[in-house]
Parts: sequence; structure tokens; C-alpha cells
Amino acid sequence: MTDQYDVVVIGGGPGGYVAAIRAAQLGLKTACIDRMTSGAGKGAPGGTCLNVGCIPSKALLDSSEQYEAARGALAAHGIKVADVTLDLAAMLKRKDKIVSDLTGGVATLFKANKIDYYHGHGTLHAGRKVTVAPANGGGKKEISAEHVILASGSEPMPLPSVPFDHEVVVDSTGALSFGVVPGKLGVIGAGVIGLELGSVWRRLGSEVVILEALDSLLPTADAHIARDAAKQFKKQGLDIRLGAKVTGAKVDGGKCTVAYESGGESHELTVDRLIVAIGRRAFTDNLFDDGLGIERDRRGFIEVDDHNATGMDKVWAVGDAVRGPMLAHKASEEGVAVAERIAGHKAHVDFNTVPWVIYTHPEIAWVGRTEKELKDDGVPVATGMFPFAVNGRAKAMNDTGGLVKIVAHAETDRILGVHIVGPRASELIAEAVLAMEYRASSEDLARTIHAHPTLSEVVHEAALAVGGRALHKAN
Ligand code: FAD
Ligand code: NAD
Repeated sequence: MTDQYDVVVIGGGPGGYVAAIRAAQLGLKTACIDRMTSGAGKGAPGGTCLNVGCIPSKALLDSSEQYEAARGALAAHGIKVADVTLDLAAMLKRKDKIVSDLTGGVATLFKANKIDYYHGHGTLHAGRKVTVAPANGGGKKEISAEHVILASGSEPMPLPSVPFDHEVVVDSTGALSFGVVPGKLGVIGAGVIGLELGSVWRRLGSEVVILEALDSLLPTADAHIARDAAKQFKKQGLDIRLGAKVTGAKVDGGKCTVAYESGGESHELTVDRLIVAIGRRAFTDNLFDDGLGIERDRRGFIEVDDHNATGMDKVWAVGDAVRGPMLAHKASEEGVAVAERIAGHKAHVDFNTVPWVIYTHPEIAWVGRTEKELKDDGVPVATGMFPFAVNGRAKAMNDTGGLVKIVAHAETDRILGVHIVGPRASELIAEAVLAMEYRASSEDLARTIHAHPTLSEVVHEAALAVGGRALHKAN
């Protein structure tokens, strides 16, 4: 007999599993199908984010930061650590344990919310019938649903001239599990993954060269922030080569030689490992039959309207598989909103207040628009900036690089963008997101009491600086 659900979610990443939980909370009979399998051969719901994305990369970023601190930065605090050695196997094991704890946590949440979890590949057919091909083999199961949410996520974009061999030339997943620290590591793409994973392996001892096709670093970040970050990355020894057009690569004797053109000249770079991180694309293989009315755009994303509805009645799509930023929290918010719409509620995702974070050191975070974008659109702006260099807490932490920049409307004072490079930018940005969500003015932030001594005082001072009245610098 075919099991009948109110909601079937295909894909158990932050878009899909969160949508399933919210649907179940709203009293809907819900199933979630996910094909991800752990190293131990078990179902591992949580998607790219928990298995091979946000979580393992942040585990390694934190571990590698501690290692680097023990090797040098702690000395500034008067702490001398002798004979620091790296146990890479233990570091990778810790990362794997965090992943299995969290994917196990999702499975527990499914049970607690009475969500049926199917470990396998789901395909949508006419009449909102869904077949599941179990991950561990066996016959297909058919279920059907009143509503279907497609949340199949994304996969690394390949570079045809540099094919993966998953040994020397790897994608981000391979780069989370190198068994030894590469002597020389090449990265193609100075985007989020290139900078984060390049930072991990540099801290662990690799010489890292990043080849970036564009002529500028982080073109979507505010120019002040991108400039400051570039300076700090250079000081750390990340060799970022801009305007580098990769033309091919050859693997020989366990090494890879990458050919690229830059400044009208041909160059070669030989590395022990090469990470290709040039972006991700929607993953929709065998996700739905043709002829159902669900379309893909020219870049392969599932087409949806502003409410995440596809062209097929009662079929929705969320997360990396659809337009918009490829971020876990964006996927989750869309998942929640769709579940609520299915249950008959009104729900809205505000794309103007999606925070971006790059977990390098210093961290980079922003929300809203940049000064340049606003000026290009003819919006009159007033800006305020404040450096971490004179902040007491940053000094206590010995972590004083970076700044906060606030961009407000010159006439209404409404905050239109907040841009941070500096310690704990990933946490500091939350205040800015909330302020923008509530349409705060820079005056609102300036009048808000911030605890002393905290890093958040830099946000406060930047808000004061919009009105030319920062207290701890000359205006
Ligand atoms: P996914 O997480 O990709 O989940 C989709 C799931 O569906 C997968 O488990 C997939 O196997 C499964 N699936 C696909 N098709 C089917 C099918 N037909 N049947 C059954 N199952 C199927 N974002 C952040 O916000 N912060 C970060 O710090 C961050 N770090 C990242 C680091 C790395 C290295 C990478 C690669 C990504 C990172 N991201 C980060 C991006 C983030 O992982 C994605 O934006 C997020 O996972 C998207 O969620 P999703 O649910 O749309 O898709
Ligand atoms: P990205 O879009 O951030 O960066 C890709 C970079 O590669 C760009 O700078 C691009 O100009 C460059 N590039 C493209 N083709 C190239 C070529 N042939 N030669 C040299 N450079 C080339 O993509 P990504 O770093 O692969 O990450 C994919 C997505 O995953 C991101 O867009 C992001 O949404 C998500 N992600 C988020 C986080 C986070 O939130 N902290 C972390 C990792 C990944």
C-alpha cells in the first residue's frame, strides 16, 4: 500500500530537514527522504552543510586556529608552549565526531517530531507520487503526498580543463580530509571556500597559492572590508594571485602542474594538492520526471516564484537548488516559510537581511548593501567606520585587526548595510541583522547601550561615527 503524507520533503539538508520539522510542528504528517550516507554506511541527514560543508569546515577552522595560536600567537599573552606537534588524524577524527553527533541529532529530531525518514534517493512523479530507491539497495518504495518540497541542494562546480581525480585534484569535500598536510597547496577560486579551506591548510603548515580569475578579491563585499581583509591575508602568507586564468592542469607523480595566464603571460604552478573551488551548482539529478511543469533556469536552478512555488501544483523548492544565496540559513528560512504556507499561514523571507559570513581570521561578515551598490543606484548615503585597533576587548584578546562600517541613508538615517572584518564578526553581525530587520536607524544603534568592554562597542562606535560623533577616535 502507498503511504500517504501531507508533506514529503526530498532532501534532508538545512532546507529540507528544517522544513520537515516545521511542517510536523504544524500538525502535518511528514516524511523526509535523504540519500546522504556516512562513512560508516549509515543514513546521515543534514545535507552538505552538516556532512561536508559548514560544520566540518568550521571544525577544522577552529582546530587549525588553536594550533596556530599554540605555535606563536599565545606568546604575546606570555604563554610559552614548547614542542607543539600536530596530530592531524586526531584533528580529523574530532571533526568527524562533530559531524556524526549533529547528523545523529537530526535523526533524533525526526523521531521526536514523528517524521518518517527514508534513507535513499527520492524522485517525484505525476500526481505527486514519490518513489524512494533505498540507499542500501532493495526494491523501490512508493509514497504520495498532498505537498512536496524539493530541497536537493547543490554540488561542486567542475572545471572542465582541470578534472577531479579525487586524490591530487579535489573538491571541497576532499579538502576536508587530506591525510597529510600538503607541502604546497593550490586552490582555484578565491571565493568563500578557497579562503576558508586555504586558511585551514596554511595554518596547519601548507604553502598556499590561490588562483583567482577576477582582478579583485571579494568583489561582493564592501570595498573597505575587502581591502582590509586582503592586507591581512597577505600578512598571514596566503599567496592570492588575482587575474589568473587557469587553462589546464596535469597530474604526474602525485603532483599537479596548473597552467594559467596572468597579465598576458603564461605561468605554471606545481603543487602537491589542488582544490577546485569555483562555485557550486544545483543538484537535481533524477529528482523529478520531465513534463511535470517544473522548469530549470539556464544555470540549472529549479525555477520558483517569490513564495518558492514551482510550476507544478503543490510542489515547492527551497535552498541551494533554487535562486538566491547558497547559504544554510537562507535554505532553512525558506524551508520554514514553505511549511508555514502549506499550513495556511502567511510567511516571508527577507532577502535584504540575509547575513554573509566568511570564517577566515579575521572573520568577514556583512548584511545589506555596500556603499558602492547604493551610490551606483543614486541612493544618498552617510557612512561611519570604527577600527578594532582601539577597542579594549580586542586589545585584551590581542586581536585588533579590522573595522566595522555602517552605511545609512543620508536623509532618513535608516541602516542599509553593515560590514565587518575583524574578530568574531560572525557573532557581531547578528545585532546588525536585527537592527535592519526592525528598520533601525544608525541613531537607534548609537542610542543602544553596549556592554563594556566588548567587541560590540566597535559596532556602537561605527553607528556613532555615522553622525560624526564617535567617542574613542577623532572624527
Ligand atoms: P544541501 O545541504 O545540499 O542538502 C541537500 C540534501 O539532499 C543532501 O543531503 C543531498 O544528498 C540530498 N539529496 C539530493 N537529491 C536527493 C534526492 N533526489 N533524494 C534524496 N536526497 C537527495 N553555508 C553557510 O551558511 N555557512 C557556512 O559556513 C557554510 N560553509 C560551507 C562550507 C563548504 C565546504 C560548503 C561546500 C558549503 C558551505 N555552506 C555554508 C553552504 C551550505 O552548505 C549550503 O548552502 C546548504 O547546505 C544548502 O542547504 P540545502 O538544504 O539547500 O542543500
Ligand atoms: P564562490 O562563488 O564563493 O567563489 C568562487 C570563486 O572562484 C570566485 O571568486 C570566482 O571568480 C572564482 N572562479 C570561478 N572560475 C574560476 C576559474 N576558472 N579560475 C579561477 N577562479 C575562478 O564559490 P565557492 O567558494 O566554491 O563556494 C560555493 C558556495 O558555497 C558559495 O557561494 C557560498 O554560498 C557557499 N559557501 C558558504 C560559506 C559560508 O557561508 N561561510 C562557506 C563555504 C561555501
